[in-house]
Amino acid sequence: MKCPTCNGDCILPAQKVLDDILSMYMACGLCPRDPMLVKNAPIPGKIDKNFGLCINCKKRHLDIVIWNVLSILKEKGFLQDAALREVGTPLISFGYQIPYPPRLNEKNLVLIMDSVTKDIAIEIVEKVPEVKGVIKRKGLQSQSIGILDTNSSPHTYELLSGCDMRCDVISSLFGELCIYKNQSLIHIEFNNTKITKMEELYLKGELENAIVVDGFCGPGTLGLLCVIAGAKKVILNDAWLPALKNTILNIKVNSSILGIKINFENADYDKLIADEPVLLARAQGKSEVFVYHGDIRKLDTAAKGSDICLIDTFPSVNPARFMAACKDIAGKIIII
Ligand SMILES: [Zn+2]
Ligand SMILES: [Zn+2]
Repeated sequence: MKCPTCNGDCILPAQKVLDDILSMYMACGLCPRDPMLVKNAPIPGKIDKNFGLCINCKKRHLDIVIWNVLSILKEKGFLQDAALREVGTPLISFGYQIPYPPRLNEKNLVLIMDSVTKDIAIEIVEKVPEVKGVIKRKGLQSQSIGILDTNSSPHTYELLSGCDMRCDVISSLFGELCIYKNQSLIHIEFNNTKITKMEELYLKGELENAIVVDGFCGPGTLGLLCVIAGAKKVILNDAWLPALKNTILNIKVNSSILGIKINFENADYDKLIADEPVLLARAQGKSEVFVYHGDIRKLDTAAKGSDICLIDTFPSVNPARFMAACKDIAGKIIII
């Protein structure tokens, strides 16, 4: 499957990612030792793409890759006395909780940076092989990417160079999924408590054979988890089109794990922020999945009679304002 952003090979089938993930970022027997760089003190000198490269597996330690990026910034007069941690937020291309510093291969890293220009971003992607994309942060780090509700204007980061498509491996008691996302357009998620809440629902038997509405689905994580948990029907809805394009991609990538196939897709649709719900895709198999672009407060016809409605808004949004609409469509409301 070609990457919809760069037309390259960024998208691997979920099964392949899950097979490889445990060894993807591991050092080989010949890898140079951990450089033990201090992350919060200025780091002297400049290095290039050959510094610290393993002659066997061709990977480099994350800190060395960041030092390489810092070297380019210094050459351009940015961040002269900076520490590694000031360079930006590194996100590995296939996100997974690993208990050791990752060793990176080509195109294994998406960088979110504050101090960078387009020209420098292009140079970083050209000269640091491990970096697949450079994103410029806009606004405060605490501000979520996307839209707060249908009346707000979107807050997005800017992809300056390369590709921002990356995936997070989601592990739960009842199975794994690979959730791809365009990281300049989608909220950056570090919150594992949501998965724990889904596991609690699963253990109570509330997801099996249920009709579930994932009202603020983003790239589809929680709704698609409900599919592997045995839900009979899942309605995924979001008001932000880029999130739903990722959701549809995630249904395709995880198709064999989910046991469903897309049999309808409204591929030409391009309205960015939703109002009246529009059906963008439908998938069927072990479960029935509908993807709607809509304001949750107008979803009643599409979702009435559901068992559970999941509300997963951004941290700064009070879910209470959506409760009345959700009570109309589902017997039970779960605030995630
Ligand atoms: Zn790509
Ligand atoms: Zn090695």
